[in-house]
Amino acid sequence: MLSPKAPVIIVGAGPAGLSLALYLAQHDVNVLIVETFTEENFLEQVPRTGSIHPSTLEMFDDLGLYQHLEPRGLIAPTFQFWDREHGRMIAEFDHEVIKGDTKFPYVLQCERLKVIEQAMKMLRTYANVAVRMGTTLESFTQDADGVVANVVNEAGEREDIPGSYIVSGEGGRSAIRKGADIAFEGYTYPDQVLTVSVVYDFDKHHGYAYRNYISDPDQWANLFKWTQPERWRVHFGTSMDDDPERLLSEEHCQAQMQHFIPIGKPYEIVHRHLYSSHQLVASSFNAGRALLTGDSAHVNSPIGGVGMNSGVHDSINLGEKLVAVLRGEADASVFDRYTRQRRHVAINHVKKITERNKRLINDKDPASRQKNHDMLARTANDPKLARDYILNTSLFTSLDEAAAIQ
Ligand SMILES: Cc1cc2nc3c(=O)[nH]c(=O)nc-3n(C[C@H](O)[C@H](O)[C@H](O)COP(=O)(O)OP(=O)(O)OC[C@H]3O[C@@H](n4cnc5c(N)ncnc54)[C@H](O)[C@@H]3O)c2cc1C
Repeated sequence: MLSPKAPVIIVGAGPAGLSLALYLAQHDVNVLIVETFTEENFLEQVPRTGSIHPSTLEMFDDLGLYQHLEPRGLIAPTFQFWDREHGRMIAEFDHEVIKGDTKFPYVLQCERLKVIEQAMKMLRTYANVAVRMGTTLESFTQDADGVVANVVNEAGEREDIPGSYIVSGEGGRSAIRKGADIAFEGYTYPDQVLTVSVVYDFDKHHGYAYRNYISDPDQWANLFKWTQPERWRVHFGTSMDDDPERLLSEEHCQAQMQHFIPIGKPYEIVHRHLYSSHQLVASSFNAGRALLTGDSAHVNSPIGGVGMNSGVHDSINLGEKLVAVLRGEADASVFDRYTRQRRHVAINHVKKITERNKRLINDKDPASRQKNHDMLARTANDPKLARDYILNTSLFTSLDEAAAIQ
Protein backbone atom coordinates (compact mmCIF):
# COMPACT_ATOMS: atom_id res chain seq x y z
CA MET A 1 0.00 0.00 0.00
CA LEU A 2 1.42 3.36 -1.05
CA SER A 3 1.92 6.01 1.63
CA PRO A 4 -0.57 8.87 1.27
CA LYS A 5 2.47 11.15 1.35
CA ALA A 6 4.01 9.49 -1.75
CA PRO A 7 5.24 12.28 -4.01
CA VAL A 8 4.29 13.16 -7.55
CA ILE A 9 7.49 12.27 -9.40
CA ILE A 10 8.40 14.87 -12.00
CA VAL A 11 11.10 13.73 -14.39
CA GLY A 12 13.01 16.61 -16.01
CA ALA A 13 13.93 19.98 -14.55
CA GLY A 14 13.13 22.01 -17.68
CA PRO A 15 10.65 24.91 -17.73
CA ALA A 16 7.62 22.59 -17.96
CA GLY A 17 8.68 20.24 -15.15
CA LEU A 18 9.70 23.04 -12.80
CA SER A 19 6.53 25.11 -13.40
CA LEU A 20 4.49 22.05 -12.46
CA ALA A 21 6.70 21.43 -9.43
CA LEU A 22 6.18 25.01 -8.23
CA TYR A 23 2.42 24.80 -8.73
CA LEU A 24 2.15 21.52 -6.81
CA ALA A 25 4.52 22.61 -4.04
CA GLN A 26 2.40 25.73 -3.52
CA HIS A 27 -0.70 23.53 -3.21
CA ASP A 28 0.82 21.31 -0.49
CA VAL A 29 1.57 18.35 -2.73
CA ASN A 30 4.80 16.40 -2.10
CA VAL A 31 7.04 16.52 -5.15
CA LEU A 32 10.17 14.66 -6.19
CA ILE A 33 12.13 16.09 -9.12
CA VAL A 34 14.46 13.73 -11.00
CA GLU A 35 17.03 15.35 -13.34
CA THR A 36 19.90 13.89 -15.38
CA PHE A 37 22.04 17.03 -15.15
CA THR A 38 24.07 17.28 -11.95
CA GLU A 39 24.31 20.24 -9.57
CA GLU A 40 27.63 21.04 -11.22
CA ASN A 41 26.60 21.04 -14.89
CA PHE A 42 22.91 22.05 -14.62
CA LEU A 43 23.65 25.57 -15.89
CA GLU A 44 26.05 24.44 -18.61
CA GLN A 45 23.25 23.41 -21.00
CA VAL A 46 23.17 24.74 -24.57
CA PRO A 47 21.48 28.15 -24.46
CA ARG A 48 18.02 28.15 -26.06
CA THR A 49 14.75 29.99 -26.11
CA GLY A 50 13.45 32.74 -24.18
CA SER A 51 10.62 34.71 -25.68
CA ILE A 52 8.16 34.51 -22.81
CA HIS A 53 4.71 35.63 -23.92
CA PRO A 54 2.28 37.67 -21.77
CA SER A 55 0.01 34.66 -21.09
CA THR A 56 2.98 32.79 -19.59
CA LEU A 57 4.18 35.88 -17.71
CA GLU A 58 0.78 35.91 -15.97
CA MET A 59 1.32 32.29 -14.88
CA PHE A 60 4.90 32.99 -13.75
CA ASP A 61 3.54 35.97 -11.82
CA ASP A 62 1.02 33.72 -10.02
CA LEU A 63 3.86 31.31 -9.18
CA GLY A 64 5.98 34.18 -7.78
CA LEU A 65 8.60 33.56 -10.46
CA TYR A 66 8.07 36.63 -12.64
CA GLN A 67 9.60 39.05 -10.12
CA HIS A 68 12.87 37.07 -10.29
CA LEU A 69 12.89 36.90 -14.09
CA GLU A 70 12.06 40.47 -15.03
CA PRO A 71 15.36 41.94 -13.73
CA ARG A 72 17.25 39.30 -15.73
CA GLY A 73 15.32 39.74 -18.99
CA LEU A 74 14.64 42.36 -21.65
CA ILE A 75 11.19 43.84 -22.13
CA ALA A 76 10.20 43.58 -25.79
CA PRO A 77 6.89 45.36 -26.52
CA THR A 78 7.23 45.01 -30.32
CA PHE A 79 8.18 42.45 -32.94
CA GLN A 80 8.87 43.03 -36.61
CA PHE A 81 8.72 41.22 -39.94
CA TRP A 82 11.44 42.17 -42.44
CA ASP A 83 12.00 41.54 -46.13
CA ARG A 84 15.73 40.81 -46.34
CA GLU A 85 15.76 40.70 -50.14
CA HIS A 86 14.76 44.39 -50.32
CA GLY A 87 16.16 45.45 -46.94
CA ARG A 88 12.87 46.85 -45.64
CA MET A 89 10.59 46.35 -42.67
CA ILE A 90 7.25 44.81 -43.69
CA ALA A 91 5.29 45.18 -40.45
CA GLU A 92 5.72 46.06 -36.80
CA PHE A 93 3.36 44.64 -34.15
CA ASP A 94 3.07 46.38 -30.78
CA HIS A 95 1.71 44.56 -27.70
CA GLU A 96 0.28 47.92 -26.66
CA VAL A 97 -2.93 46.80 -28.45
CA ILE A 98 -3.51 44.11 -25.77
CA LYS A 99 -2.92 46.35 -22.76
CA GLY A 100 -6.63 46.05 -21.89
CA ASP A 101 -6.29 42.26 -21.87
CA THR A 102 -3.25 41.72 -19.68
CA LYS A 103 -1.04 43.44 -17.15
CA PHE A 104 1.96 42.31 -19.26
CA PRO A 105 1.61 43.96 -22.70
CA TYR A 106 5.04 42.73 -23.81
CA VAL A 107 7.24 39.70 -24.28
CA LEU A 108 10.05 39.13 -21.79
CA GLN A 109 13.23 37.99 -23.53
CA CYS A 110 14.65 35.72 -20.86
CA GLU A 111 16.55 32.55 -21.71
CA ARG A 112 15.48 29.08 -20.61
CA LEU A 113 18.57 28.74 -18.44
CA LYS A 114 17.59 31.79 -16.38
CA VAL A 115 14.04 30.46 -16.00
CA ILE A 116 15.17 27.08 -14.70
CA GLU A 117 17.87 28.56 -12.47
CA GLN A 118 15.37 30.87 -10.77
CA ALA A 119 12.63 28.21 -10.56
CA MET A 120 15.06 25.73 -9.01
CA LYS A 121 16.19 28.35 -6.44
CA MET A 122 12.55 28.89 -5.43
CA LEU A 123 11.81 25.15 -5.26
CA ARG A 124 14.72 24.57 -2.87
CA THR A 125 12.88 26.69 -0.30
CA TYR A 126 9.87 24.32 -0.07
CA ALA A 127 9.96 21.58 2.57
CA ASN A 128 7.65 19.38 0.45
CA VAL A 129 10.03 19.32 -2.55
CA ALA A 130 12.92 16.88 -2.96
CA VAL A 131 15.37 17.12 -5.85
CA ARG A 132 17.50 14.25 -7.18
CA MET A 133 20.11 15.70 -9.54
CA GLY A 134 22.44 13.48 -11.59
CA THR A 135 19.64 10.89 -11.67
CA THR A 136 18.17 9.44 -14.87
CA LEU A 137 14.83 7.73 -15.24
CA GLU A 138 15.20 4.54 -17.29
CA SER A 139 11.71 3.05 -17.02
CA PHE A 140 8.66 2.95 -14.75
CA THR A 141 5.82 0.66 -13.70
CA GLN A 142 2.35 1.52 -12.48
CA ASP A 143 -0.66 -0.15 -10.86
CA ALA A 144 -3.96 1.02 -9.42
CA ASP A 145 -2.28 2.50 -6.31
CA GLY A 146 0.80 4.24 -7.64
CA VAL A 147 3.96 4.22 -9.73
CA VAL A 148 7.57 3.11 -9.34
CA ALA A 149 10.32 5.04 -11.13
CA ASN A 150 13.33 2.94 -12.07
CA VAL A 151 16.30 5.29 -12.03
CA VAL A 152 20.08 5.27 -12.13
CA ASN A 153 21.22 7.58 -9.36
CA GLU A 154 24.21 9.89 -9.09
CA ALA A 155 26.37 7.07 -7.73
CA GLY A 156 25.53 4.98 -10.82
CA GLU A 157 23.28 2.59 -8.83
CA ARG A 158 19.86 1.35 -9.88
CA GLU A 159 17.08 2.47 -7.57
CA ASP A 160 13.29 2.11 -7.45
CA ILE A 161 11.40 5.17 -6.24
CA PRO A 162 7.68 4.97 -5.39
CA GLY A 163 5.28 7.80 -6.15
CA SER A 164 1.60 8.59 -6.63
CA TYR A 165 1.90 9.80 -10.25
CA ILE A 166 4.80 10.16 -12.67
CA VAL A 167 5.01 13.18 -14.97
CA SER A 168 7.34 13.43 -17.93
CA GLY A 169 8.92 16.86 -18.30
CA GLU A 170 11.78 15.10 -20.09
CA GLY A 171 11.60 16.92 -23.41
CA GLY A 172 11.17 15.35 -26.85
CA ARG A 173 12.98 12.08 -26.14
CA SER A 174 10.75 11.16 -23.18
CA ALA A 175 11.38 7.66 -21.80
CA ILE A 176 8.00 7.82 -20.05
CA ARG A 177 6.15 8.48 -23.33
CA LYS A 178 7.97 5.55 -24.93
CA GLY A 179 7.43 3.33 -21.85
CA ALA A 180 3.70 4.10 -21.93
CA ASP A 181 3.67 3.17 -25.63
CA ILE A 182 2.30 6.53 -26.71
CA ALA A 183 2.89 7.40 -30.38
CA PHE A 184 4.66 10.68 -31.31
CA GLU A 185 3.06 11.71 -34.58
CA GLY A 186 4.19 14.23 -37.19
CA TYR A 187 7.27 15.10 -39.21
CA THR A 188 10.83 16.47 -39.10
CA TYR A 189 11.69 19.57 -41.16
CA PRO A 190 14.07 18.96 -44.06
CA ASP A 191 16.34 21.82 -42.96
CA GLN A 192 18.52 22.17 -39.88
CA VAL A 193 18.61 25.43 -37.96
CA LEU A 194 21.94 27.18 -37.50
CA THR A 195 22.08 29.52 -34.50
CA VAL A 196 24.81 32.16 -34.34
CA SER A 197 25.15 34.52 -31.35
CA VAL A 198 27.02 37.78 -31.92
CA VAL A 199 27.93 40.98 -30.11
CA TYR A 200 26.52 43.76 -32.30
CA ASP A 201 23.80 46.38 -31.92
CA PHE A 202 21.22 45.63 -34.66
CA ASP A 203 18.81 48.07 -33.06
CA LYS A 204 21.14 51.09 -33.09
CA HIS A 205 22.70 50.42 -36.51
CA HIS A 206 19.72 49.07 -38.47
CA GLY A 207 16.50 49.76 -36.52
CA TYR A 208 15.61 46.15 -35.64
CA ALA A 209 13.29 45.38 -32.70
CA TYR A 210 14.34 42.86 -30.04
CA ARG A 211 12.38 40.15 -31.94
CA ASN A 212 12.43 39.91 -35.74
CA TYR A 213 11.22 37.43 -38.35
CA ILE A 214 13.12 37.86 -41.58
CA SER A 215 11.56 36.76 -44.82
CA ASP A 216 13.96 35.65 -47.58
CA PRO A 217 13.16 33.25 -50.45
CA ASP A 218 16.71 31.84 -50.28
CA GLN A 219 17.32 31.67 -46.56
CA TRP A 220 14.87 32.63 -43.84
CA ALA A 221 16.24 34.01 -40.56
CA ASN A 222 15.08 35.11 -37.09
CA LEU A 223 16.93 37.75 -35.13
CA PHE A 224 16.55 38.20 -31.37
CA LYS A 225 18.23 40.28 -28.73
CA TRP A 226 18.94 38.27 -25.57
CA THR A 227 20.98 40.15 -23.07
CA GLN A 228 22.71 43.40 -22.36
CA PRO A 229 25.26 44.33 -23.49
CA GLU A 230 24.35 43.81 -27.15
CA ARG A 231 24.08 40.02 -27.33
CA TRP A 232 21.93 39.01 -30.34
CA ARG A 233 21.12 35.59 -31.79
CA VAL A 234 20.33 34.77 -35.43
CA HIS A 235 18.65 31.54 -36.53
CA PHE A 236 19.19 30.52 -40.19
CA GLY A 237 17.56 27.74 -42.15
CA THR A 238 20.19 25.44 -43.74
CA SER A 239 20.14 22.31 -45.86
CA MET A 240 19.87 18.92 -44.13
CA ASP A 241 22.53 17.55 -46.51
CA ASP A 242 25.12 20.13 -45.51
CA ASP A 243 28.08 18.97 -43.43
CA PRO A 244 27.52 20.03 -39.79
CA GLU A 245 31.23 20.70 -39.27
CA ARG A 246 31.29 23.08 -42.24
CA LEU A 247 28.06 24.80 -41.14
CA LEU A 248 29.47 25.45 -37.68
CA SER A 249 32.90 26.66 -38.86
CA GLU A 250 33.89 30.26 -38.06
CA GLU A 251 34.37 30.90 -41.78
CA HIS A 252 30.87 29.72 -42.72
CA CYS A 253 29.17 31.53 -39.81
CA GLN A 254 31.00 34.77 -40.70
CA ALA A 255 29.93 34.41 -44.35
CA GLN A 256 26.31 33.79 -43.26
CA MET A 257 26.30 36.84 -41.03
CA GLN A 258 27.87 39.08 -43.69
CA HIS A 259 25.33 37.84 -46.26
CA PHE A 260 22.57 38.54 -43.74
CA ILE A 261 23.77 42.10 -42.98
CA PRO A 262 27.23 43.19 -44.19
CA ILE A 263 28.91 45.37 -41.56
CA GLY A 264 32.32 45.97 -43.18
CA LYS A 265 34.22 44.13 -40.41
CA PRO A 266 34.10 40.62 -38.91
CA TYR A 267 31.26 39.90 -36.48
CA GLU A 268 32.27 38.97 -32.94
CA ILE A 269 30.74 35.49 -32.79
CA VAL A 270 30.26 34.18 -29.25
CA HIS A 271 28.28 30.97 -29.79
CA ARG A 272 27.24 28.59 -32.61
CA HIS A 273 24.81 25.71 -32.52
CA LEU A 274 23.00 23.45 -34.99
CA TYR A 275 19.75 21.60 -34.39
CA SER A 276 16.89 19.88 -36.23
CA SER A 277 13.31 20.88 -35.72
CA HIS A 278 10.13 18.83 -35.76
CA GLN A 279 6.36 19.01 -35.61
CA LEU A 280 5.38 16.06 -33.40
CA VAL A 281 2.42 15.59 -31.07
CA ALA A 282 1.81 12.65 -28.71
CA SER A 283 -1.33 10.63 -29.45
CA SER A 284 -2.29 10.97 -25.76
CA PHE A 285 -0.91 13.11 -22.91
CA ASN A 286 -2.00 10.60 -20.22
CA ALA A 287 -1.76 6.85 -19.70
CA GLY A 288 -3.07 5.84 -16.27
CA ARG A 289 -0.77 7.44 -13.69
CA ALA A 290 1.78 8.53 -16.33
CA LEU A 291 1.32 12.07 -17.60
CA LEU A 292 3.14 14.15 -20.22
CA THR A 293 3.84 17.89 -20.22
CA GLY A 294 5.87 20.25 -22.42
CA ASP A 295 8.14 18.91 -25.15
CA SER A 296 7.55 15.32 -24.05
CA ALA A 297 3.97 15.81 -25.33
CA HIS A 298 4.65 18.05 -28.35
CA VAL A 299 7.65 19.52 -30.13
CA ASN A 300 7.47 22.21 -32.77
CA SER A 301 9.57 24.59 -34.84
CA PRO A 302 10.90 27.41 -32.64
CA ILE A 303 9.76 30.13 -35.13
CA GLY A 304 7.26 32.01 -32.99
CA GLY A 305 8.72 31.08 -29.62
CA VAL A 306 5.77 29.10 -28.36
CA GLY A 307 7.31 25.74 -27.39
CA MET A 308 8.33 26.56 -23.85
CA ASN A 309 5.32 28.82 -23.39
CA SER A 310 2.83 26.13 -24.30
CA GLY A 311 4.73 23.63 -22.12
CA VAL A 312 4.27 25.90 -19.10
CA HIS A 313 0.57 26.21 -19.99
CA ASP A 314 0.31 22.39 -20.06
CA SER A 315 1.88 22.24 -16.62
CA ILE A 316 -0.46 24.73 -14.98
CA ASN A 317 -3.49 22.95 -16.47
CA LEU A 318 -2.12 19.58 -15.32
CA GLY A 319 -1.21 20.96 -11.88
CA GLU A 320 -4.82 22.06 -11.29
CA LYS A 321 -6.07 18.57 -12.17
CA LEU A 322 -3.49 16.71 -10.09
CA VAL A 323 -4.34 18.83 -7.04
CA ALA A 324 -8.06 18.19 -7.51
CA VAL A 325 -7.53 14.41 -7.85
CA LEU A 326 -5.11 14.17 -4.91
CA ARG A 327 -7.58 16.09 -2.72
CA GLY A 328 -10.37 13.72 -3.75
CA GLU A 329 -12.27 16.55 -5.45
CA ALA A 330 -12.13 14.99 -8.92
CA ASP A 331 -11.64 11.53 -10.39
CA ALA A 332 -8.91 10.42 -12.77
CA SER A 333 -11.08 11.09 -15.84
CA VAL A 334 -9.91 14.72 -15.61
CA PHE A 335 -6.62 13.55 -17.12
CA ASP A 336 -8.51 12.56 -20.28
CA ARG A 337 -9.82 16.11 -20.37
CA TYR A 338 -6.24 17.34 -19.94
CA THR A 339 -5.32 15.43 -23.12
CA ARG A 340 -8.34 16.80 -25.01
CA GLN A 341 -7.60 20.38 -23.99
CA ARG A 342 -3.85 20.48 -24.43
CA ARG A 343 -3.68 18.25 -27.54
CA HIS A 344 -6.14 20.64 -29.17
CA VAL A 345 -3.75 23.52 -28.37
CA ALA A 346 -0.68 21.61 -29.58
CA ILE A 347 -2.30 20.80 -32.93
CA ASN A 348 -4.51 23.81 -33.62
CA HIS A 349 -2.39 26.58 -32.14
CA VAL A 350 1.27 25.72 -31.46
CA LYS A 351 1.71 23.68 -34.64
CA LYS A 352 -0.38 26.05 -36.78
CA ILE A 353 1.33 29.25 -35.55
CA THR A 354 4.84 27.87 -36.11
CA GLU A 355 4.01 26.32 -39.50
CA ARG A 356 2.46 29.59 -40.65
CA ASN A 357 5.47 31.61 -39.47
CA LYS A 358 7.80 29.32 -41.38
CA ARG A 359 5.69 29.66 -44.55
CA LEU A 360 5.53 33.44 -44.18
CA ILE A 361 9.28 33.90 -44.05
CA ASN A 362 10.35 31.20 -46.49
CA ASP A 363 7.87 31.51 -49.35
CA LYS A 364 9.66 31.30 -52.70
CA ASP A 365 6.87 32.44 -55.00
CA PRO A 366 7.12 36.24 -55.58
CA ALA A 367 3.35 36.77 -55.95
CA SER A 368 2.42 34.94 -52.76
CA ARG A 369 5.32 36.54 -50.88
CA GLN A 370 3.94 39.94 -51.81
CA LYS A 371 0.42 38.88 -50.77
CA ASN A 372 1.72 37.69 -47.38
CA HIS A 373 3.70 40.87 -46.83
CA ASP A 374 0.67 43.02 -47.66
CA MET A 375 -1.48 40.95 -45.29
CA LEU A 376 1.04 41.39 -42.45
CA ALA A 377 1.28 45.16 -43.02
CA ARG A 378 -2.53 45.50 -43.14
CA THR A 379 -2.93 43.47 -39.94
CA ALA A 380 -0.25 45.38 -38.02
CA ASN A 381 -1.74 48.74 -39.00
CA ASP A 382 -5.30 47.93 -37.97
CA PRO A 383 -5.65 47.95 -34.14
CA LYS A 384 -8.50 45.39 -34.10
CA LEU A 385 -6.77 42.97 -36.46
CA ALA A 386 -3.46 43.51 -34.63
CA ARG A 387 -5.10 42.75 -31.26
CA ASP A 388 -6.59 39.49 -32.60
CA TYR A 389 -3.25 38.58 -34.15
CA ILE A 390 -1.30 39.15 -30.92
CA LEU A 391 -3.88 37.42 -28.72
CA ASN A 392 -3.38 34.43 -30.99
CA THR A 393 0.45 34.51 -31.23
CA SER A 394 0.78 35.04 -27.48
CA LEU A 395 -1.47 31.98 -26.91
CA PHE A 396 -4.34 33.74 -25.06
CA THR A 397 -6.76 32.49 -27.71
CA SER A 398 -5.50 28.92 -27.20
CA LEU A 399 -6.15 29.17 -23.45
CA ASP A 400 -9.72 30.39 -24.04
CA GLU A 401 -10.43 27.56 -26.48
CA ALA A 402 -8.90 24.93 -24.16
CA ALA A 403 -11.00 26.16 -21.23
CA ALA A 404 -14.16 25.59 -23.30
CA ILE A 405 -13.27 21.93 -24.03
CA GLN A 406 -14.97 19.44 -21.71
C1 LIG B 1 17.00 27.32 -30.48
C2 LIG B 1 15.68 27.19 -29.80
C3 LIG B 1 14.97 28.34 -29.50
C4 LIG B 1 13.75 28.24 -28.85
N1 LIG B 1 13.08 29.39 -28.57
C5 LIG B 1 11.92 29.33 -27.90
C6 LIG B 1 11.24 30.55 -27.49
O1 LIG B 1 11.68 31.67 -27.76
N2 LIG B 1 10.09 30.41 -26.76
C7 LIG B 1 9.58 29.18 -26.46
O2 LIG B 1 8.49 29.14 -25.85
N3 LIG B 1 10.20 28.03 -26.83
C8 LIG B 1 11.36 28.07 -27.52
N4 LIG B 1 12.01 26.92 -27.85
C9 LIG B 1 11.48 25.62 -27.40
C10 LIG B 1 11.84 25.36 -25.93
O3 LIG B 1 13.23 25.37 -25.73
C11 LIG B 1 11.26 24.04 -25.48
O4 LIG B 1 9.91 23.95 -25.90
C12 LIG B 1 11.32 23.93 -23.95
O5 LIG B 1 12.65 23.99 -23.47
C13 LIG B 1 10.69 22.60 -23.51
O6 LIG B 1 10.68 22.57 -22.11
P1 LIG B 1 10.51 21.19 -21.35
O7 LIG B 1 10.59 21.54 -19.91
O8 LIG B 1 9.33 20.47 -21.86
O9 LIG B 1 11.76 20.29 -21.78
P2 LIG B 1 13.31 20.62 -21.78
O10 LIG B 1 13.55 22.08 -21.68
O11 LIG B 1 13.87 19.89 -22.95
O12 LIG B 1 13.85 19.95 -20.43
C14 LIG B 1 13.88 18.56 -20.27
C15 LIG B 1 14.71 18.23 -19.02
O13 LIG B 1 14.53 16.84 -18.73
C16 LIG B 1 15.79 16.23 -18.45
N5 LIG B 1 15.64 14.81 -18.80
C17 LIG B 1 15.34 14.28 -20.01
N6 LIG B 1 15.20 12.94 -19.93
C18 LIG B 1 15.41 12.61 -18.64
C19 LIG B 1 15.38 11.37 -17.93
N7 LIG B 1 15.06 10.22 -18.55
N8 LIG B 1 15.68 11.36 -16.61
C20 LIG B 1 15.96 12.54 -15.95
N9 LIG B 1 15.99 13.75 -16.57
C21 LIG B 1 15.71 13.79 -17.90
C22 LIG B 1 16.75 17.00 -19.36
O14 LIG B 1 18.09 16.89 -18.88
C23 LIG B 1 16.20 18.43 -19.24
O15 LIG B 1 16.74 19.12 -18.13
C24 LIG B 1 13.22 26.97 -28.50
C25 LIG B 1 13.94 25.81 -28.81
C26 LIG B 1 15.15 25.91 -29.46
C27 LIG B 1 15.91 24.65 -29.78
